[in-house]
Amino acid sequence: MLLEGKVGLVLGVANKRSIAWGIVQAAAREGARLALTYQGERLEENVRELAEALPNPLLLPCDVTSDAELDALAASIQEELGGLDFVVHSVAFALREELDGQFVNTSRDGYRLAQDVSSYSLTAVARRVVPLMEARGGGSIVTLTYLGGERVVPHYNVMGVAKAALEMSVRYLAADLGPKGIRVNAISAGPIKTLAAAGVHGFSKMLEYHRSHAPLRKNTDQDEVGDAALFLISRLGRGVTGEVLHVDGGFHVMGMSAL
Ligand code: NAP
Repeated sequence: MLLEGKVGLVLGVANKRSIAWGIVQAAAREGARLALTYQGERLEENVRELAEALPNPLLLPCDVTSDAELDALAASIQEELGGLDFVVHSVAFALREELDGQFVNTSRDGYRLAQDVSSYSLTAVARRVVPLMEARGGGSIVTLTYLGGERVVPHYNVMGVAKAALEMSVRYLAADLGPKGIRVNAISAGPIKTLAAAGVHGFSKMLEYHRSHAPLRKNTDQDEVGDAALFLISRLGRGVTGEVLHVDGGFHVMGMSAL
């Protein structure tokens, strides 16, 4: 098994549709022991129920906008697990109203919140897991992004700008942490119907458009992202860092799909 004896932390499981849950299932199948986080009490029950399917999971609270909670998370992992081999960061948030009108109307608070939760949090997490990964001789960090961070996608607005910052953070973190044997990569997933996606205006149309224009003529699913993440978090991806891997049926290569 690819992750036998490995220990990982996954942030961003909200329910069974979460992309993070697809990654958790793939990692557990390959033998990893996992720590999962939940944000506040609202989702604790959900995550607890899902985690029953995992061998010996560790469940911890973490709101990524709170430095105190991030510090407590790292301390608990140090105490309970002694180190980490991989981290999956699958967290994003923007105010619904920012994903509706035009980007030009983005508010200062809406911009700040989207950047804080969806982009800065990767760096905040990475800083704290460095010693945990060094204790294991290195590690792999993977985050989730979307094409709207490279090109303009209707309604993605402030989240697209946050994803652009997230993708650049991946490159800077890869450069900083590479000498410690820590790799940092992103998966740019095609649209998948999840709780977070429900906040994007016109999401169903986006799915339809993707299905009919992607070279593979299908929508992306959780399992495909899970398997690609497995490559990045396991030794199979040991030569890859600073990369944004598109798991989107090839959608991103298209300019025009027909004339
Ligand atoms: P999801 O199931 O709703 O997951 C988003 C997660 O982010 C939830 O667990 C949510 O927890 C968490 N989160 C939000 N604010 C947080 C905070 N302050 N602290 C800690 N956790 C927080 O949706 P998803 O689609 O799987 O999203 C996962 C990642 O994939 C995101 O980065 C998203 O942008 C990215 N992505 C999604 C798609 C897509 O089409 N679905 C495509 C490409 C990339 P709460 O529910 O408690 O807020």
